[in-house]
Amino acid sequence: MSDKRLKILFASSEVSPYAKTGGLADVAGSLPKALAAMGHDVRVVLPKYKQINVGNYLTDFPVEIDHHLETGIIRETKLTGKDYEVPVYFIDNYKYFYRDGIYGFDDEAERYNFFCKAVLGMLPRIDFQPHVIHCNDWQCGLIPLSLKTKYVDNIFYQKIGTVFTIHNLQYQGIFPRNTLRLIGLGDEYFTPERLEFYGNVSFIKAGLLYADIINTVSNNYALEIQTPEFGERLDGLLRKRAQDLYGIVNGIDYEEFDPANDPFIYQKYSIETIDLKKKNKSGLQKEMDLPIEDKPLIAVVSRLVDQKGLDLISGIFEQMMGCGVQFVLLGTGSDYYQKLFLELKVKYPKQTAIYLGFNPDLAKKIYAGADMFLMPSRFEPCGLGQLVSLRYGTIPIVRAVGGLADTIQDYDEKTGKGNGFSFGPYDKTALLETIKRALRIYSEHPDRWRRIMVNAMKSDFSWGRSAEEYAQLYEKAIHKNLSTIYRAV
Ligand code: ADP
Repeated sequence: MSDKRLKILFASSEVSPYAKTGGLADVAGSLPKALAAMGHDVRVVLPKYKQINVGNYLTDFPVEIDHHLETGIIRETKLTGKDYEVPVYFIDNYKYFYRDGIYGFDDEAERYNFFCKAVLGMLPRIDFQPHVIHCNDWQCGLIPLSLKTKYVDNIFYQKIGTVFTIHNLQYQGIFPRNTLRLIGLGDEYFTPERLEFYGNVSFIKAGLLYADIINTVSNNYALEIQTPEFGERLDGLLRKRAQDLYGIVNGIDYEEFDPANDPFIYQKYSIETIDLKKKNKSGLQKEMDLPIEDKPLIAVVSRLVDQKGLDLISGIFEQMMGCGVQFVLLGTGSDYYQKLFLELKVKYPKQTAIYLGFNPDLAKKIYAGADMFLMPSRFEPCGLGQLVSLRYGTIPIVRAVGGLADTIQDYDEKTGKGNGFSFGPYDKTALLETIKRALRIYSEHPDRWRRIMVNAMKSDFSWGRSAEEYAQLYEKAIHKNLSTIYRAV
């Protein structure tokens, strides 16, 4: 079956460039393109949030929610490139999605219940019968559940396999018990073996239990989440499904993130013209109001949440400033961290620049302009920031956890191997020592530093191999689903 063209529906609550809060959007915007370039018929579906202003009306149809009907409007656009064309469908409904922002509302269960139902309801209307639906994170968890319950005997749907990808196990979609009624399920589903989770209903559990195949976004995280330390109270369930649980490391879009061809940065460059990268540093310093000096420039581009190790960074800030570095942070998130970094800016105005907000164009300028990229995460399913940094020759300093451990090889001065710097324990002294180690090589051994930059830029995290692995996973899901149908007959 392996060279057969697959029909794939990729369902996600965010897809770059239409809606993005983090790495999920990057994956949803780039993996389908890579699969399409391999010859598969892949289509993407996401909610039509208010901020999205593309998409032509295609059709509409009723979606039954808790014994009443809502309207699902389908709009369509396309992601096109020289070797791919990916139809993108938007699920439009004024009541659920026409709001400022993407997440964080009181009725998230209603919104994503509607989304999942509308995704399945859409398929006959657009005359697309996928071999597999690739579902992402808790927002899509009810899709595998519906296929294995409501649609299990329906000829149109029953051969559709499902892959459920965990992009971050911490976000689970936990809602009160009466959410079951909204989903259209009886109380028999409120058991620990099904959707009950410590007295509530869990949407991610629906995905994890009912998908044919589960995966997460690095091999290391796939192992970590089977332990109590990283399992977010789902490690038992994940261990039970270990036979169906895989890890595939994320790629990034090498066309979108390409220093040789990036219209947003100050100066284009490649491995051959690596010295030109410096112009991006001075451009960034100017834009961020920092003195234009040849000091090491350390950057963070991140959601400002506990996961990202920001307490470690603030815990060593004074010592880091004492090393004479400049620091640039682009991020948005918790009020606590926003305030903390603004205070640090006040304390070190000449060395620190803080931009609070979500700004993909500025992010690229930072990836191109910084010398080092800090990502000392508490846990990290894959991490894309370090991959983009590698592509731009900006050296990652990371905690060796999750996907960071899979993608960043600690520089070894003896062999000259390594594309970054990493440390093990979640500990601020370990972070500081690692930053100092990087700074010493940066200032005392420019030739070695250059070698690390070349190693970084030569690391290949384009989608090629991982997209191929996803295609194999889809085959497994299709096969597994078909074998359960035939067993039932
Ligand atoms: P996560 O998915 O946990 O947020 P990742 O490293 O996997 O972390 O992906 C984060 C993505 O979001 C990267 O592409 C990063 O550049 C981008 N990003 C994070 N914060 C911002 C921001 N404030 N402005 C622009 N891009 C951001």
